[in-house]
This record gives sequence, structure tokens and C-alpha cells, in this order.
Amino acid sequence: MKTKGIVTGIVSNLVTVKVDGPVAENEICYITAQGVRLMAEVIKVNGENASVQVFESTRGLKGGDAVEFEGRMLEVELGPGLLSSVYDGLQNNLATMENVFLQRGEYTAPLDHKKLWAFTPLAKPGDKVEAADWLGEVKEGWLPHKIMVPFSFKGTYTVKSVKEAGEYTIDTVMAVLTNEDGEDVKVTMTQRWPVKVAIKGYKEKPRPSRIMETGVRVIDTMNPIAEGGTGFIPGPFGCGKTVLQHAIAKQGDADVIVMAACGERANEVVEIFTEFPELIDPHTGRHLMERTTIICNTSNMPVAAREASVYTAMTLCEYYRAMGLKCLLLADSTSRWAQALREMSNRMEELPGADAFPVDLSAIISSFYARAGMVVLNNGQTGAVTFIGTVSPAGGNLKEPVTESTKKAARCFYALEQNRADQKRYPAVGPLDSYSKYLDYPEIRDFLDETIEKGWVDKVLVAKNIIRRGKEASEQINILGDDGVPMSYHVAFWKSELVDFVILQQDAFDAIDALCPLERQRFMLDLILEICNKEYEFEDFEKCRDFFKRLINELRQMNYSAYESDQFWAYNESVKKMIA
Ligand code: ADP
Ligand code: MG
Repeated sequence: MKTKGIVTGIVSNLVTVKVDGPVAENEICYITAQGVRLMAEVIKVNGENASVQVFESTRGLKGGDAVEFEGRMLEVELGPGLLSSVYDGLQNNLATMENVFLQRGEYTAPLDHKKLWAFTPLAKPGDKVEAADWLGEVKEGWLPHKIMVPFSFKGTYTVKSVKEAGEYTIDTVMAVLTNEDGEDVKVTMTQRWPVKVAIKGYKEKPRPSRIMETGVRVIDTMNPIAEGGTGFIPGPFGCGKTVLQHAIAKQGDADVIVMAACGERANEVVEIFTEFPELIDPHTGRHLMERTTIICNTSNMPVAAREASVYTAMTLCEYYRAMGLKCLLLADSTSRWAQALREMSNRMEELPGADAFPVDLSAIISSFYARAGMVVLNNGQTGAVTFIGTVSPAGGNLKEPVTESTKKAARCFYALEQNRADQKRYPAVGPLDSYSKYLDYPEIRDFLDETIEKGWVDKVLVAKNIIRRGKEASEQINILGDDGVPMSYHVAFWKSELVDFVILQQDAFDAIDALCPLERQRFMLDLILEICNKEYEFEDFEKCRDFFKRLINELRQMNYSAYESDQFWAYNESVKKMIA
């Protein structure tokens, strides 16, 4: 018997309901208003009164309207066909642009129930299995999509039968398992999972031990992010958060990419729709969209749907991680999500925390970031979810609660600076304030020693030091004037400009410069350090400036030339001559 209720109060999207039976927090319910069924989530229960947030406009809703509780939390449907889909936070399929503006009360099927998938069994009768173990696989695009024992299954099961190789729809019973009590249970290609609960089904979650290549130099060279690691990009409006995230999405070394675009400008979402299907994956030469799922909510969708979208996106990543895949989750911007939390908490008249955000904001953000990570599956294989979120602090104030809370939760910090963006020094990641805590991990240092070159992290620290000294020198030059400082100040300043222009800056819109593989990053940093390690004598500061400007020019040309091209090596020759 489902619990029922009636609407007793409405404050925007927050509705209070008098209930006639048990309800739980996070439970889903439907309110029928003027013949339209609106989905809502219970956020608080107080005796026979429940506060629910409606995922849509509450226009026309009135006291006395009927409510039906579902006895389940907000769930997603998991199965083949998630990739290359575009959903909103409630997993409505927005495959066609018309659907971007779904009618109220309309919910679409997330997966195609008619499509046939080519299945290969991986388990056989008699096998002992438990939740998340692989029973078979289908090809989703070019990725092996595992059909797993549902995550909700408890204990050990014995495989009774598995379908033989062939083509099946997602609703076909693919396997029959016998539980410890001797009862048979059927498994299809799909399962449902509540988005706010992390998917377990793995043996352990060790510390990340390798880096995820992004092709972006400020990240990979200066502050690398681990595979299964976490990072965030705070930055004022227009400083390049979205461009940087898209660059990472296009080149990141991941099997699966899930992008949660929550609540930024509406036309940005339209850009994703039009741009992403065109993109070619540099790793496979196939369409990037084949391994991408986009979850989007624009700011004209109700706040509650934005909150749901980050959880939906994370759940999809955890699902693919359980298949032994490397997943990359990008959320832009998590500030919109936090604002949704704030709006709901204010409507419920809860005791507010800093800047009226809920008092447990920090805990909510931390437990979300904690769902990322590298895992060792029951069969010994590994999977990873790497998470990078953007934060848009109002007025660029990094002391505001969302930035501060995220800083505690994420291990990489890529701060976009207004003055760098103003000078068109893109990506505008500040070189001195940004960091990657992974550079302190011994296992990551070992990994870099082995895959890039021995002593790599020390070289990175040398480069950071050059930038720091250049900044100090430039401050002195500004105060004392060009002629008021020793020549060494000018040299220090120009060496830091060299690192800035050649390593830090990268043109996200140039086909060659946009993608810089690790091997090429190593070559460029080595070359820059070779240049910077030399002593230079100049008659006056103008000669110093001209020399370094010419050098920067040649090196930038290298960045714009294909690594294998004659042109690249010709510029390299010319640089070597200049510093000989
Ligand atoms: P945000 O998401 O922080 O509001 P955007 O990512 O939309 O900012 O960037 C704003 C503009 O800055 C872009 O339209 C582009 O012109 C410029 N820009 C940002 N990053 C780069 C980059 N890496 N290379 C070139 N231009 C950039
Ligand atoms: Mg943006």
C-alpha cells in the first residue's frame, strides 16, 4: 500500500504535505495538479507533515491536491544506451532539441527498449557471483558494456543460466541466479539505482597511483590530476571555466565522459548540443559523443532539478567504473547546485550557515567528492571516476562558502584569475596559487618518474620557482623602474614570461596547440629549463627584452606546429642556435 497525502502549503517549489502513512527522506512522490502529475522529492519529515521539493514549476498547484508516495528514492535507469545520450537531471531523454523544453509532467524513457544489443556471456552456470560481478557484455559503441549482477543484490548467488551469444533487447532476461535460500531471480540488462547513494560493489578503494592525462599543460605539467582524483576550477564569470572543462572533456584520457552542465546560461547548453556531436575523439578518431553522456539543466529549469543532475551524473560514472572503465565527470558549475541547496534550505526556514547556505554545505560537498576515486573490483580489475567541478564565486571572492567547502574536498585547485583572463593569458589558471596535492603522493611521484622521466616533479618545482622569482622581479621593476634594478631582475622576469607563454598558455581553439600529449609536454619543459638554466649577459634591458621576445615567438611557433613535422624541429633548431 502506497502512502498518500494532501497538499497543505506551497512556497514556490517547496510544498508541505499531510501524509497518511510512513514516508522517508529522499523518497519520491507525485503530486497531481490539474490533471498533471508532478514529480517531487521528500526533503524533510516531521510527524505527519512532509516537506517535498517539486522538480518542476508548481503553477496551478493548490491546497488539497492529492499526493502519492512511491516508496523509493530518486533513481536512474542503468543499462546499455546511456552513452551518447543527453539527459536532464531526472534522466529525461533530451535527444531532440524540442525536448529541451519538455512539457510539465512529461517524463521520457531514458533507454531504448527496442534496440538490439550483441551480447557475449562472461559467466556460466554454476559460477558463484555477487553484486556488481559481470555476467556478460554488449558492445556500446566501441566500449564493452558489462551486464552485471544488480548492485542491490545481497550475498552470494549461483548462476543457473545465462543467455547464449546473440542479439537481445535490454528487457530480456539475460541470466537467472539462485540465491542462498534457493530462490531464482531474473537479471535483465537494466537495473535501477538511487542517485544519492554511492554504488559500492568493489573490493577496495586505494589511493590514486597514476595521473590522468588531460592534454592541458597547466594541469598535466604543473599540477596533474590523478586518475580517480578530484579537482576544481573556481573562477569569476567569463574567465574560461567552461572552455577549460570542454578542453579536458575533448582530450582527457578516459573511456567514458559524463558532463553535468547545471544551471549556467541557457545558450551554453545549446552550444553543447551543437558542438559535441561534431567533435572527434583524438584518442580513437571516432565521435567523442560515442563515449559521452551529457546531463544538463539550464537556469530556467527549477532549482531542484539542478541538484539532481550532479547526483545523476555521478551515479552514471560509478556504474561505468564498476565495469572496469576510466570515467571522467565534469560538473559546470557546482555553485548552481549549492544555490539550489540554499534556496531549499531558506524556504524551509532552516537555521542558515555562512551566506545563508545550509549549515551542512561542507559535508554535502565533501561526501559528493568522496564518491570519486579509483577502485579495485571483485575480479581484481580497476576502474576510476575522476571528478572536476567548476565553482563560480560571486565577484571572484574565493573566501565564499562554496569555494571554501570545495577546497576542503578537492585535491587539485585550478584558480582562474581575472587579471590573467583580462590579459588573454588563457587558460587563466593562476600559476602560484593553484596546486595539486597529488604531487606529494609518493606513488604519483614514482608514476611520473617512470612514465615521464626520472626527477620530473623536481623539474616542475624549478619551473614554478622561475615563475615566483619572475613575479618578485616584476614587482621590483614596477617600483624602481627599468633602469633602477640590476639586469638579473630583467632576466628573471623574462624567464618567467618564457614559462608563462610557452608552458602555461595554451590556445584551446587551435587544433594542434589544444592537444598537448605528455611526451610533448616533457619535451617542452625540458627545453624551457635548458634555456632558463643558462646565464645571459645583456648590455641593456631592451636587448634582454628583445632576445626573450624573439625566443618566445619561436617557441610559440613550436606549440602551433605538429610534433612530428619538419617545421617543429626547424624551430627547435633555431631556438638552440639562439641560446648557443
Ligand atoms: P566562464 O565559463 O568562466 O564564464 P568561458 O569558459 O565561457 O568562461 O570563457 C569566456 C571566454 O574566454 C571564451 O568565450 C573565450 O573567448 C575566452 N577563453 C577562455 N579560455 C580560453 C582559452 N583556453 N583559449 C582561448 N580563449 C579562451
Ligand atoms: Mg561557464
